[in-house]
Formats: sequence, C-alpha cells, structure tokens
Amino acid sequence: MRKSILLMILAIAICGQAKEVTVKSPNGALVVTVSNKDGRLTYGVALNGETVLRESALGLRTSIGDLTQGLTMTDTKENRVEAHYDMQKTKASHSDYVANEITVTLKNDKKQVLQVTFRVSNDDVAFRYSIAVEHPEREADLNRTLIYGEASSFNFPEGTTTYLCPMAAPGILWAHARPSYEEVYTPDAPMAVKSQFDHGYSFPCMFRQGDRWVLVSETGTTGAYCGTHLSDYEAGKGYTIAFPDEQENGGFGSAFVGCQLPFTTPWRTITVGPLKTLVESTTAYDLVEPLFEASTDYKPGRYTWSWLVWQDESVNWDDQILFINLASEMGFEYCLVDNWWDTQIGRDRMPELVRYANTKGVDLLLWYSSNGFWNDAPQTPRNCMNTAIAREREMKWLKSIGVKGIKVDFFGGDKQETIGLYEDILSDANRYGLQVIFHGCTLPRGWERMYPNYVSSEAVMASENVYFTEPDAEREAFDLCMHPFCRNAVATMDWGGVILNRHLSRDNKSRHTRKTTDIFELASGITNQSAIQCAALCPNNLTEVPKFELDFLRSLPSTWDETRFIDGFPGKYVVLARRHGDQWYVGGLNALKEPLKLTLDLPMLAGKTLDYLVDDKQGQPTKTTLKVDKQGRAKVTIHPNGGIVLTE
Ligand code: CA
Repeated sequence: MRKSILLMILAIAICGQAKEVTVKSPNGALVVTVSNKDGRLTYGVALNGETVLRESALGLRTSIGDLTQGLTMTDTKENRVEAHYDMQKTKASHSDYVANEITVTLKNDKKQVLQVTFRVSNDDVAFRYSIAVEHPEREADLNRTLIYGEASSFNFPEGTTTYLCPMAAPGILWAHARPSYEEVYTPDAPMAVKSQFDHGYSFPCMFRQGDRWVLVSETGTTGAYCGTHLSDYEAGKGYTIAFPDEQENGGFGSAFVGCQLPFTTPWRTITVGPLKTLVESTTAYDLVEPLFEASTDYKPGRYTWSWLVWQDESVNWDDQILFINLASEMGFEYCLVDNWWDTQIGRDRMPELVRYANTKGVDLLLWYSSNGFWNDAPQTPRNCMNTAIAREREMKWLKSIGVKGIKVDFFGGDKQETIGLYEDILSDANRYGLQVIFHGCTLPRGWERMYPNYVSSEAVMASENVYFTEPDAEREAFDLCMHPFCRNAVATMDWGGVILNRHLSRDNKSRHTRKTTDIFELASGITNQSAIQCAALCPNNLTEVPKFELDFLRSLPSTWDETRFIDGFPGKYVVLARRHGDQWYVGGLNALKEPLKLTLDLPMLAGKTLDYLVDDKQGQPTKTTLKVDKQGRAKVTIHPNGGIVLTE
C-alpha cells in the first residue's frame, strides 16, 4: 500500500569556490539563492522575480564550534528528487513530489563541515543541515556533540503581514501543562508586534504578501531533535528558529540537542503561493519516510466522546454505555473513554465494557496522562505512559482486553527528550496494535507518514474551549475558518468534534449556547481533517435534530483521497472540497457577520444535482438540492456563523 520511490536522476558535482549558488523549482518560478559572504551563510527566496524572503541567516551553534561564521564554501551538488507515494491519514491519498535539490558544503579552519540542503518544488522550499568533522583525530570526536541553537532565520520584506499563534511560556495558565500549542492566531498583524507571551510563535506560521502567502513550518522531527518555533521579530533579521525554553518539561531535560556526528537535522519548510497552494500542500509528508511497519491494519473512523459536553462526571459505566450505544446507532467505529476511567469505572470492569462495545460493533479508545512528573495535571491514569516498563505492562493489558487505541494527554513541551517520548509511545503502541491520538501536545511534524499507528493531535485551541467559556465559543467560527490555511494545512488536527447540542451542557438548557449553526458544525466535519474524526454528539441529539443531519454524519468519511481549496480567506470564510473514492464532499463555513454570497467553481461536479444542506434566513437547518451548471458553477449563500454542505 505504501509505496515510496526516491529517485536521484541527476547528480552533478560542481567543485570550486563559488560564493553564490541558486536552485530553481522544476517550473523555474521559485528560486533560492544561497550566498557565502565574509564567512557567513545566507539564503533568500524569490517567486517570479519578487522577493519572498530577503537575505536570511543559516548556521548552527554547536559544542564542536560555531558553525554560523568562519565558513568557506567548498562544494555544491545538485540533484533532482522525486517521491511518488500513497498515504491514508492526511488530506490526500497520493502525492507526487518533484524538486530540485542543492547541497552546499562549507568548512571552517577546524575542518568542521556544515552542509545545508535545499529542496525546491514548484510550491515549497525546504532546507536542513548536516554536520560532520573531517578526519577526526579520535573516534570520540564524533560523540557528545550538542547543538545549542540555530541562526536559521526568515527575513520577510517590509509590508509582509502575519497570521501567527503565540508560543506559550512554560508554566502559565493551568497545571503547568503549557506549552501545548493551545493558543489563538491573530490575523493580519504587523511583523514588529511583540508575541503575547514573549516566547515567539509556534508552527505553522503564516505570512501574507498581497496575493501571495507563505507558510513556515517544520517536518521530520523525531527524538533525534527538539521541536523548534520562531522567535519574535527583529528588524533587519526577521524571525529566527528558537529552541525550547529550559523551563519546559517542568525544567527537566536539556533545552539543547544531543547527537553523534555525522548528524542531519529535520526539515524547515516554506510553502509559497496563493491560498490554494497552502491548503493543498503535502510538503510535511513529501520530505519524510515511514519509520516502521504497521503491526496491523489500522482502521480510520469516527468516535463519540462524552467528555466534551458531559465532562469528567460522565466517565462512569452507565454514561459510557449511552455513548457506546450512540456510536453504534450512528454507525461510528469508536467511542473515546476519557480521563478518570480507572477510578470512576475501574480497571477491573474495563474488559466487560470493551466486550459490551464490541457487541454493538464499536471499539474503544482510552485516555491516559503522559505523566510522569512534568506538570500538575491531576487526571488519571498517570504513570502508565512515561517509562518503557509501564508502557509494556499497560499496552499488553490493553491489547488483551481488545482496546484499539489510546489518547495520551498533557505533554511537557518540545525538548528532545519529550519528542523522544512521543516516538517511544508510538513505537511501543504499534507492537500492541494500538493507534495513538495526542492531546495537550506539540504539533505533529510529518508523523502521519512517519509512524503508521499515529492518528492525530490536538495542538490547537480546541473544542473544549467552546465548552469552557462563552468568549471561546464566540470565536469558534473564526478558529475553524483559520485552521484549514495553517494548523490543519501542515498536519492532521483533532479539533474534538462536530457539536449539535444548542447549549454546552448535559441538560441542553443551562450554560452558554453554541454560537454556530448546525450546518456549520456538519460542514466542519469536512473542513477539519483527522483520520479518526470526533463527532461530539450527545444521546439527546438523536431525537432533537433533523434526521438529515444525523444521516449526513452517518455517511461522512474520515479519510480523503484528494482535497481542493474552492474559496476562502483565513479567519473569514472557507470552502473546501474533499474526495473519498469517487464521491465529493463540499463543506463551507462563514465567520463573517454578514451572509456570504459565493459562486463556487466545482468543475468536478459540473452538470450534477447535489444534496444541499444550508441554513435558512433564520439560521435553521434545511435540506434541499442545488444544480451545478455545465461550467461547474454553483451559487450559494452562507449564513453568518453558518455553513453549507454539498454532497453527491
Ligand atoms: Ca486540551
């Protein structure tokens, strides 16, 4: 199923003392210029002759030496790189990646070697470093190397505006569980504005240059490196790659990277083009390879989740039976049993709960804390996922009772040892046929392709906040009109569900209301991408909402063969078309205060009459039909905080 071919078609070595080299995308439009001046290495990016990134710094600060200066360019090598492969758990089931590559080799007077490799496809620039020592005097010279940080910068021209999400300072807010990528994007801000927590910005970082957009992120990060982010903006330098704060992970573990030479870093990615390019990009997957074989045929699907609206007290036997029955009635594959199941249901009753679910055609996913000692989150079970011995015992038990997946929550930050914990959990879980969802966590960086049992991550200010506070509920439409362009464009996202309760409460009368329409919520099942997708329904929804809403969710796939950007603007509105097999699903969301009239361009549906779910003028859900004309055009109106769904 997973076929990967990496072809090195052309390899030309050019030796010499070149001070400036360029590499162009296959279509010639995207150009990277790498320069070596006064011993320092820089790069710049241009699209169709216009500056995307001005001269930006490159280099690493390491324990063997400062590889940001005193460098002489000694060699360049050019290659053409192709990768044609299939995948199951992202926005597309197949990718054809073609790029031109240049590897620039530099040395300093201590014979230390820094290489930087750029790959330039028609839509993306990616780069990574390798470091080595030429002719080490002793074998030990290759060991115990520390990487203290990077000079790598992104120096945008004046006038660029930003769509950025702040990196949380460690220890702020609840239970010392930050940073966990649960902050809010600010649209269209100037570059010079300071970040909210004085800790820069988490990936992905989006920038606007008129009609051209740029998305900066990273991919291929394993336990061999830390997760990085962008610093605050500095005039003349731009944004610089920043390492984790030393207070992350409760202050334990190194903020630096430890490695053995020769060593290669993860990729930094720069996706450039119109919004369509960002939304449809597969660059996070194009640059990585699967790291182990799946031990079983992992099943995508949909899950019910009592915790979102009914909260902690619902994690008891009787309520979980209700949500298993709900999953069964909806034809969903999974029910997620959240925190406190070990005390409120009891370990000894879990085999019986799994057996009951199986009789209803439903598999269970169970919640765990990642702890450990690195935060104060009290939820249990704890200390089951933090050491190899504990994981082995727990996962063996999970497999024996028939649990199919785990959700692991409350990680400690982006230090190398924490990234290693994610990887260890995934690797161990695969031995026991368990899929893994992470919450309270870092951005996944190519993991859908790298780890076959990895499913999805939160790493977003997610649906739980719609429950927690009314201001967060007010922001839901904005958030879900932002993420298809940035957060969910580089990685799968467990937003935590289509919500159909009118009030965020068990009685569906008390507490604040949901601010979005039902059709908005249904459409978010298309616009949010996660291979195991949450529908945060409550049992009362079965009798309270129109049958066509439930029928849509029953037939909604969670995996996609193709994704097309149809229309939209970050934070304002979005219309996406996704294909599953030969069926197209079109979802649209409107975060604006006024109704939005659009003429959609849907050539793949030309001449067809589609089922059309739409809010009427009062915001009430209706089902009708819509004819797409012979040219593939369809006129729609999307209600404020409302949505549209078009299906064949
Ligand atoms: Ca969370």
